[in-house]
Amino acid sequence: MLPDVQKLLDLQEIDRELIDLKSQLARYPVVWEETKKRMAQRKADHAAARKKLEENQDQRKRKEQRIKNWLTDLQRSQTRLSLSKTEKEYQAANRELEKIREKLQKEEDDVNTLVDEAGQREAEEAEERKKLDEFKEFYQAERQRIRSQFNDKKQRVTELEREREARAVRVRDDLRHLYERVHKMHPGSAVVPVRGGSCTGCHYSLLPDVMVTLHRGEELVICPNCGRILAYDEDYVPEEEDAAVS
Ligand SMILES: [Zn+2]
Repeated sequence: MLPDVQKLLDLQEIDRELIDLKSQLARYPVVWEETKKRMAQRKADHAAARKKLEENQDQRKRKEQRIKNWLTDLQRSQTRLSLSKTEKEYQAANRELEKIREKLQKEEDDVNTLVDEAGQREAEEAEERKKLDEFKEFYQAERQRIRSQFNDKKQRVTELEREREARAVRVRDDLRHLYERVHKMHPGSAVVPVRGGSCTGCHYSLLPDVMVTLHRGEELVICPNCGRILAYDEDYVPEEEDAAVS
C-alpha cells in the first residue's frame, strides 16, 4: 500500500472515533432532557395524588363542621318542639326537626363515604411518593453518570483532536486537502479498501487497468464512481482463495 494512503488511513481511524464520540456526546443532552421530563411527570403524579388526598381530608373537615352545626340546630329544634304550645307550633317544629335530621343523615353518609375513600387516597399517595423517591435516586445517579461520561468523552475528543493534528501534518498538503474534501462528502469513509475488484464504498466494479495501477502502488487511485480514495488491501483474501488454502 502507498505510504501516503496508510497515513490517510491513520488519520481516518481518528476521524471515525471522533464521529462516534461526537454523536454520543450529542445524545447526552437528549437523554438528560428525557430524564428531566420523566422527573417532572413523577412530581406531577405525586402532586395530583396528594391533592386528591387533601381534598378528601378538607371535605371531611367541612362536613364534620356542618354536622356540628346541624347538631346544634337539632337541639334547638328539639327544645322548640318540647316548648310548643299549640298543635300548629308542634307540627311546624316537627317538620323542621325532620328536615334537620335528613340533612344530618346526608352529611353523615357523605362523611362515611369520604372515610371509605380516604384509605384508597392514602394508598395512592403513598404509592406515588414511593415512585417519586425511587426516581429521585435514579435521577441523581443518572445525572452523575451523564456528567462523568460526558466529561470523559469530551476529554477524549480533545486528546484525539490533538493527535489528529499531529497525524495530519505528516500528510502531504495536497493529499490532506483531498482527504478533507472527500471526508466531508463521506464522513469516516474517505479511504476505503478494494475487495473483489470493487470499491467497498460504493460497490462499483473497478476496471482492470485501475486494479493494475492500484496493485502497483505507485500513485493514488480514486474511485471513478464515488470519488473515495482507494486502498489496496494486501491482507484481503477472496473467499475462493480462502477455500483453496484450507
Ligand atoms: Zn466508490
